[in-house]
Amino acid sequence: MEMLDTIASGESGTTLPTIMAEFAEKGVRQHVNTRVTAITEGAVVAVCGEEAVTIPCDAVVMAVGSRAVPFDASGITAPVTYVGDCSGERTADIASAIRTAYAAANAL
Ligand SMILES: Cc1cc2nc3c(=O)[nH]c(=O)nc-3n(C[C@H](O)[C@H](O)[C@H](O)COP(=O)(O)OP(=O)(O)OC[C@H]3O[C@@H](n4cnc5c(N)ncnc54)[C@H](O)[C@@H]3O)c2cc1C
Repeated sequence: MEMLDTIASGESGTTLPTIMAEFAEKGVRQHVNTRVTAITEGAVVAVCGEEAVTIPCDAVVMAVGSRAVPFDASGITAPVTYVGDCSGERTADIASAIRTAYAAANAL
């Protein structure tokens, strides 16, 4: 289930075709434009547009993303730089982590 209009939209062009081929082979059903609103005993509850969707299940795997959780450094007089996942640039992206750390190191 994915609330965007496509599954794994951020996945690389090298990996995505393999994932989709395996989904097709295993008969994995995809529900796009479908936002999960609750998990109940025995079902995942969602909305697709105006329509309520209930999918019975006996197991749930959640992969709903990541977000930065930086400490509040306001009021600190020493320079504080956020790099990597907490930089606010992009989470869960090693290239962004390296890029922001490199820029911070060069700025010291
Ligand atoms: C399973 C998995 C697979 C991934 N695969 C990919 C991939 O294929 N490609 C890709 O681009 N990215 C991938 N990522 C994301 C990538 O690992 C991260 O974007 C990257 O590691 C971010 O680096 P970072 O240094 O900001 O944070 P992290 O590597 O998470 O390092 C942060 C460190 O800070 C420590 N820490 C946190 N709070 C405190 C505190 N209060 N005091 C002291 N220490 C603290 C943590 O213990 C951790 O060691 C993956 C992540 C995971 C979890």
